[in-house]
Amino acid sequence: MNKIKQLALKYLGHTNQELTESFDNLLDECVKEVMEIAQLKVYWQRYSLEHPLRVEELDILISSESLEFNLENCKECIVIASTLGVQIDKKIKYYASYDMSKGIVFDAVASAYLEVGCDEYEDKYLPENRSYRYAPGYSDIPLSLNRLFATRMNLYKHLGISIDQNDLFIPMKTMLGIIGIGKVEKTKSCKGCRQLNDCEFLRRNQTCY
Ligand code: SF4
Repeated sequence: MNKIKQLALKYLGHTNQELTESFDNLLDECVKEVMEIAQLKVYWQRYSLEHPLRVEELDILISSESLEFNLENCKECIVIASTLGVQIDKKIKYYASYDMSKGIVFDAVASAYLEVGCDEYEDKYLPENRSYRYAPGYSDIPLSLNRLFATRMNLYKHLGISIDQNDLFIPMKTMLGIIGIGKVEKTKSCKGCRQLNDCEFLRRNQTCY
């Protein structure tokens, strides 16, 4: 099974249960369609990182114990943003309005496609001595950082991305991540995550990373 399908199944809450033929076909259909419509665009910049965490050139303070722990040995970071564009959003809304099941699967596949696309981009273009990509909203990293980074990196100009009143991106299938550069040995963990006591992934013996 390809990575996009695997990840989409995880987002949909499937564990190890066997897929029915019709559901498998629906997944394949959504993967094919997302791949045809999505226009993955990526923009990133490398910055100096101070501790307590502050992205020097952008003058952005990051108040997060988990990120402080994971990027302890990093003097630089990369902030990366990627988006699938507005056509994917339109299709998600379209399917959600006339076929809810397909809408949900299509949404999960689009999220998986974005995640996998960003991973592959990182493997190809970013330095090896990098940490995982940590997105605002993950663990105790404030979601409000989306707005600060989007504004100060001028993501509207570079990727056509804007931000709504809840600090979420428009288009919806957009991701921003902070990546430490330096000596990174730590693995992603649930330490400090606000959802630790009520986490859907942990209840299914999975994690979100
Ligand atoms: S698996 Fe759950 S508790 Fe762990 S980091 Fe992800 S959301 Fe938080």
